Amino acid sequence: QKICKSYYMGEEELEVLHDINLTICHGEFLSVLGPSGSGKSTLMNIIGCLDIPTKGIYVLAGNNIDDLDEIELARVRNKEIGFVFQSFQLLPRLTALENVELPLIYKGLPASERKRLVKQILERVGLAEKTHHLPNQLSGGQQQRVAIARALVTGPSIVLADEPTGALDQKTGEQVMALFEELNHDGRTIIMITHDSNIARHATRVVHILDGYLTEWEE
Ligand code: ATP
Ligand code: MG
Repeated sequence: QKICKSYYMGEEELEVLHDINLTICHGEFLSVLGPSGSGKSTLMNIIGCLDIPTKGIYVLAGNNIDDLDEIELARVRNKEIGFVFQSFQLLPRLTALENVELPLIYKGLPASERKRLVKQILERVGLAEKTHHLPNQLSGGQQQRVAIARALVTGPSIVLADEPTGALDQKTGEQVMALFEELNHDGRTIIMITHDSNIARHATRVVHILDGYLTEWEE
């Protein structure tokens, strides 16, 4: 509700999000569509609790984030949200399996349970055959599917993706979108940020951001 975000450059205040009102329901597949510099990543960082708004109220899964300290905020973030980025952000010396396993190691799960969950999720994204491949032995689309598996393996209710097809060719991008559509049908909430209206169309709802102002998008 009425979210504003300013960046401060010395004395100067630059407001890049203005009075954003947005309700995202459980199970939605929402696209945030806008050109470069419009405030998409800034909004994504707030939705993902990686940054806090300058003004306004943000409630995530019943938690008003103003009421949380940093440790509680991190706990809510880790429980509720899986992140997917344009540049995949895989660790180059770890196999697909090891990359996907990492969040479960941080979570303190025993090895047998980790292996079971990783195997299940790599099958889900169609990479059962590639578990022992390193990132540079995988295509771009396969690397992004590893990154999606890593985002999903802890069972978050929300997948938050910033330009997930930005580094992929059109056909591979469409395949990643088909995977998001399936995950959404399974009941996962997907929030995807993009500058590409053809990619945004895969969502069930599109909002448009322009110069830090958000509007529902009608064709
Ligand atoms: P792109 O499509 O190029 O990724 P975007 O829509 O994600 O763009 P943002 O990264 O949210 O845009 O940036 C929105 C505005 O905020 C831009 O004018 C940018 O210069 C400014 N901005 C972003 N991060 C900072 C920062 N840390 N300090 C100052 N200004 C910033
Ligand atoms: Mg961005």
